[in-house]
Amino acid sequence: MTAHPRPARALATVDLGAIRRNVALLSARAAESGAGTMAIVKADGYGHGAEQAARAALRGGATWLGACSTAEALALREAGIDVPLLSWLDAVDTDFAPALEAGIDVSVSSAAELARVSAAAARTGRRARVHLKIDTGLSRNGCPAELWPALVKSAAAEPDVDVVAVWSHLAAADEPGHPSIDRQAARFADAYALAREAGLNPMRHLANSAATLTRPDLHFDLVRPGIAIYGLNPVPQPEQLTPAMTFSSHVVLTKRIAAGESVSYGLTWTADRDTTLALVPVGYADGVPRTLSGRMDVWLGGRRRPVVGRVCMDQIVVDCGDDEPQVGAEVVLFGTGAEGGPTAREWADEIGTIDYEIVTGMYRPRVHRVYTGADS
Ligand SMILES: *Cc1c(COP(=O)(O)O)cnc(C)c1O
Repeated sequence: MTAHPRPARALATVDLGAIRRNVALLSARAAESGAGTMAIVKADGYGHGAEQAARAALRGGATWLGACSTAEALALREAGIDVPLLSWLDAVDTDFAPALEAGIDVSVSSAAELARVSAAAARTGRRARVHLKIDTGLSRNGCPAELWPALVKSAAAEPDVDVVAVWSHLAAADEPGHPSIDRQAARFADAYALAREAGLNPMRHLANSAATLTRPDLHFDLVRPGIAIYGLNPVPQPEQLTPAMTFSSHVVLTKRIAAGESVSYGLTWTADRDTTLALVPVGYADGVPRTLSGRMDVWLGGRRRPVVGRVCMDQIVVDCGDDEPQVGAEVVLFGTGAEGGPTAREWADEIGTIDYEIVTGMYRPRVHRVYTGADS
């Protein structure tokens, strides 16, 4: 049987050269403070593809990788990536043995987690490399301060456990100057001092993308940028980052409608003049939020054009006025914005979310992902 070429309706093109350059910028900042860079590739590399993003990040100078679960970390090991790798949040019944056998560092926030990691270490005969997480004010995972002295003492006493690091996560680093940042840093210093008193000599890591960019004093031994490696800037000041993902489709049909005709479900938009419409075969099942109906532009034929009427499950309609786009012409829904086209950030701002959610949401079966810039 011959394979039929299947042109993609919805295409996420990931520029691996952009990821590499973004990481080069971040790891150069980290290196100025003597810190290494752990590139965060959780959630399938924020929708960009974990393995490909990881390889591009390592080419850009990252020396560590971070994933959410041991399953995500194991997938990177299975892909043949053997750099230091941390995972930090799993289901309660997760067996840590496969992670330890694959040389994956694990995070511990509680005595119960420490017991499970240490039991897995005893069972496998592998020493567990543990990063003890202190909750310094985010109040999600991490050990509360009152339980910390006991946790560091027990960890220090565990025969099969090496405490590699003490770490924490910031709540509002994307608002530089927010008073919580210094408060969290002070609590982090206290937690580290207690770990030292317990006889440990761990590394420290605290900084996400925002703190990597704005708080060199908080770089410590490693920084943990995520969103910025994909080229999305979490802080107010401009940075030389390039968005790595372009979401595109193409024109499948054009038609002329008369003034007074309306478009899409509910007929929410009515042409006030004769106009040409272009049909683009992507909709909310492909990651275009329906709440962007009437509030988004695309880049088509060298300029921005408005999407008119409702975003449907499988299609959107673009108003082209008296221009006649070619069937097959590329339509960019979001990308780098370099030429003035729309960006993931613009979508996020318009619908009241963050660009993290937009790009992460592009990981879905209907969106075909392709890579460019692997050797750039
Ligand atoms: C997601 C995550 C990061 C990266 O955060 P960004 O804001 O994307 O840079 C760092 N550390 C932890 C623990 C995280 O969960």
